[in-house]
Amino acid sequence: MYNLTYNGVVDLTSGDDCIYRKWSKELRDHFGGRVQKICIDIGSGCPNRDGLSAGGCIFCDASGGGTGAWLRGESLEDQIARGMKSALGHYKARFCILYFQSYSATYGPPDRLVQAVERATVEAGRFVPVVGLSVGTRPDLVSPWAVDYLSSLSRPDFQVWLELGVQTTDELGLAWLRRGHDLSSVEEALADCEGRPFSVCSHLIAGIPGEAEDQLLRSARWLLDRGVTGIKFHPLYVLKDTELEKEYLSGRFKPLSMEDYAEKVAKVIDEEGHRFVVQRIAADVRGERLIAPKWIEDKNRVIAEIESRLMNTTV
Ligand code: SF4
Repeated sequence: MYNLTYNGVVDLTSGDDCIYRKWSKELRDHFGGRVQKICIDIGSGCPNRDGLSAGGCIFCDASGGGTGAWLRGESLEDQIARGMKSALGHYKARFCILYFQSYSATYGPPDRLVQAVERATVEAGRFVPVVGLSVGTRPDLVSPWAVDYLSSLSRPDFQVWLELGVQTTDELGLAWLRRGHDLSSVEEALADCEGRPFSVCSHLIAGIPGEAEDQLLRSARWLLDRGVTGIKFHPLYVLKDTELEKEYLSGRFKPLSMEDYAEKVAKVIDEEGHRFVVQRIAADVRGERLIAPKWIEDKNRVIAEIESRLMNTTV
């Protein structure tokens, strides 16, 4: 599972144009006001890591794709207070979605997630109405209890999403990323979610060495054919103290250029965008944790690159 933020809030992007289906706009239209995701790290760990520290996917650092709040010893209540400060102050949010982002939230005893959801719902509800829940995990941790639990929470006025870290549907790409699962795990997880009342959003990475030029499009199509209705995109980027950093420093890994990334994402949205909502179009990472490529720090420029390509295909 992978997605970085630094202030405890995910920027769902605020533009209102209709070049493609933006989740931020669909949420605002549905609930009648701005909805902000509040990131929560319960230190779940991941079977592909050694506890919270070592191992894992080649790109994963010690925070397990999250804010690092658990490692800093921040309580769930403090995380929500920090996220809300930004959501209310900067984004003027009127509603929130609780996002159990870090590591693999369905790993370990079910009670850990269930109790955290209950506590977080009460705590966040002191600030704004909680209108949804997003739970990040890996395909081999979509267990029956998790599927039943998410189903039990889903209601028309309460959106429930399972965020599945897939990254690619290319077996060689999965192995190169050291995901520790193969494509059959993804297929089984999606089959288990079929017909359930919650939605599935998949994370996809562009720029995995050795992948086909159109792999991002192939991966998206494969997932959409199996019931996925949301996608988060980002390029493969290098964080400090990861195995990928060693590959990068030795010259064995070369990140995509911004133009190549924009081209690949625009192609997916242009060809398949009617079938899914875009939950993230560019990475949210900056600062000293980011080794390369530095162009991803200019998120607005990345989005503009993608949108300009989409506009050119629709005129
Ligand atoms: S699945 Fe990979 S990226 Fe997600 S927490 Fe585990 S090791 Fe990190």
